[in-house]
Amino acid sequence: MRHILNPPNPYDRYSAEYVGEPPPTKLEIFEETATKKMITKAFASDWEGGWRYTVNCYRGCVHGCTYCFARQYHEYLGYGAGTDFETKIVVKPNAPKLLREELKKCKWKIPHLDFSFATDPYLPLEAEYKLTRQCLEVCAEFRVPVGVITKSPLVTRDIDVLQKLEKISVFFSLPFLTKESSNPFEPYTPVPEARFRAMKTLSEAGIQTGIGIAPVIPGYNESDIPKLLERARDCGATRAFMGLLHLDNGSIENYFVEKLHERIPSKAGKVINSLKRERGGILRHKSYKERGVGITEQWEVTKKLFEFHYQRLGFVAREPKPEATEAIADDAPVQQTLF
Ligand code: SF4
Repeated sequence: MRHILNPPNPYDRYSAEYVGEPPPTKLEIFEETATKKMITKAFASDWEGGWRYTVNCYRGCVHGCTYCFARQYHEYLGYGAGTDFETKIVVKPNAPKLLREELKKCKWKIPHLDFSFATDPYLPLEAEYKLTRQCLEVCAEFRVPVGVITKSPLVTRDIDVLQKLEKISVFFSLPFLTKESSNPFEPYTPVPEARFRAMKTLSEAGIQTGIGIAPVIPGYNESDIPKLLERARDCGATRAFMGLLHLDNGSIENYFVEKLHERIPSKAGKVINSLKRERGGILRHKSYKERGVGITEQWEVTKKLFEFHYQRLGFVAREPKPEATEAIADDAPVQQTLF
């Protein structure tokens, strides 16, 4: 049973602390009619310093990864970045309709749409709501290139739609090799083996797949990198990226550290010290430019390790950044940063 654990919301003037044991959490679903645009513009330092355009039919994520940078977006809604993010899920039932209207009005061709970044597009709720599926159908209709990042095998349900898309890549977020190593950081996600199986299923169906080894948590999972790339290659993946853990704000930092001590107390000190080394003595990056970037020789070694196995296994070259000069680039709401 989970108990409420939310760092104070920095946008609130007051915060309350429970005296004694906090109450247990319960899952709450809020259906919200989205009135703004479905396409959000977000800066991604992994994307050659460029902008990405994202679609998210849900807010919050029951997968509850302790490192998740999307936790901060829940604070914009007035919720907490801790258990609120994992249990108060906002659903936008009109997402496909709004996306269609937006694409209809758009005078320019959208370079690329990513389904991810504020939540996992294949939350268990998606099995019933089918909002990601319907939005993908809209993208197929408008011939928009799409990227999906997920931790869920539910994506295999939509093979028929994915096959209709003009251009599609599905990345599985897979930073850990085993259930045991994943569990302290990804307590409620499908296990790595299930993600590899889904990757294989999609690859065999002719969908371009990839692996996202992010976050790399210094002192914890660097040594998994070669094997993760090998497993992904065996499952038909042709694309791969990796990124260093970044903790975007104080709430995420506090939550991450607290869970680290709670779940792997014997390794917490090593992870924190390694991360501080990468960050010049602090846990958080100082600026957006530093997101996902390390400063030590050790990080350079990790990057070389990734590059070596990336080349050895024959992953395909990264695609150049799509042009982001379309009209939508100026119109879309800005969602801060991604990686
Ligand atoms: S699955 Fe993705 S969006 Fe969900 S908690 Fe984990 S990192 Fe965040």
